[in-house]
Amino acid sequence: KAEEERTRDKADRATTEQVLDQRTRMILLQMINRGIVSEVHGTISTGKEANVYHAVLQADDGPAVQRAIKVYKTSIMVFKDRERYIAGEYRFQKGYDKSNSRKMVKLWAEKEFRNMRRIYTAGIPCPEPVHLKLHVLAMSFLGDRRGWAYPRLRDAVLAGDDTDQQWRTLYVQLLGIMRRLYRVCRLVHADLSEYNVLYNEGTLYIIDVSQSVEPDHPRALEFLRMDIKNVGDFFRRKGVDTLTDRVIFDFVTSVEGPTEEPGLSEAIERLYETRGDEAAADDAEVDNEVFRNQYIPQTLQQVYDIEKDGQRIEQGEGGKLVYKNLLAENVVDKKEQQQEDDEEDDESEEDESGSGADLS
Ligand code: ADP
Ligand code: MG
Repeated sequence: KAEEERTRDKADRATTEQVLDQRTRMILLQMINRGIVSEVHGTISTGKEANVYHAVLQADDGPAVQRAIKVYKTSIMVFKDRERYIAGEYRFQKGYDKSNSRKMVKLWAEKEFRNMRRIYTAGIPCPEPVHLKLHVLAMSFLGDRRGWAYPRLRDAVLAGDDTDQQWRTLYVQLLGIMRRLYRVCRLVHADLSEYNVLYNEGTLYIIDVSQSVEPDHPRALEFLRMDIKNVGDFFRRKGVDTLTDRVIFDFVTSVEGPTEEPGLSEAIERLYETRGDEAAADDAEVDNEVFRNQYIPQTLQQVYDIEKDGQRIEQGEGGKLVYKNLLAENVVDKKEQQQEDDEEDDESEEDESGSGADLS
């Protein structure tokens, strides 16, 4: 009997420890002590890079608040293929130590926290980032009162007899979000697909933004092109008449034009009205193929360097260049955003001072 108990005890420990190591448990404990959550429940999702847990904050008065806690895994292997996102990232130029996986995950969590804060501040539906400690990120829970997370867009079931129209509306909504991400937040999601968008009652929520990069990241435009492809592929499978990748790319990056509803949706409707021959499905497919293989300059400098392209734009042939909007980019934007980030970080550091155990 004692034997049996011992085995079970061991097994229990093995399973819990596999998910939550000592450090992580300490951080969760600290979050409980600080009143960020009062209970951590089971997993909402177990992924390759992170697990997401459901948690609840039971305030003394008033109803309980639900939270989601994302715990990044600290194994080195997982983060190897993420390097392409961090290398060349302006915000990580201070340097990072690849050999230290603990530092790497901390960096990832920080990146997600900052990106999420930008997106949330811009008013784009996403979780509200609540607290960050090392590789553990607490955010608001996107789900119903009973603790069920909203479905991913992939699993969304639309009700009613006008689902075709609803899918199209969601498509337009997501295009608008991509533009706001780019123009207002200065971010390319870089892993955007039906897996990283949650759906509830006609609203799309953007999640999983640790790998999101700023437009000046060497591969930002390549990532954006991939995001656009993923979104188009998904909605085409849902029967939506989609715009070509090139048209969307220009819409997302264009300096001119609205960045708020209802202007955004109206602008997209105008793109439908004004589209020409490429509306024919075959032509659109060819154009998408060409666009997806087109050369994308990696830096603004490269754009400026290609002088003859500049001339072509002046001559009105710019429409076929992937990056024509970049020529109009205002580089100052980024510096301002960086300052905002830094200021907010200072605030949160003050907030941290003098409290709790130092786990770092
Ligand atoms: P991963 O890196 O594992 O893909 P995600 O951020 O995409 O991490 O989260 C994984 C899953 O956890 C999501 O598909 C979603 O179902 C759930 N999830 C993540 N954040 C939240 C949240 N704030 N509220 C509810 N569910 C969430
Ligand atoms: Mg994900």
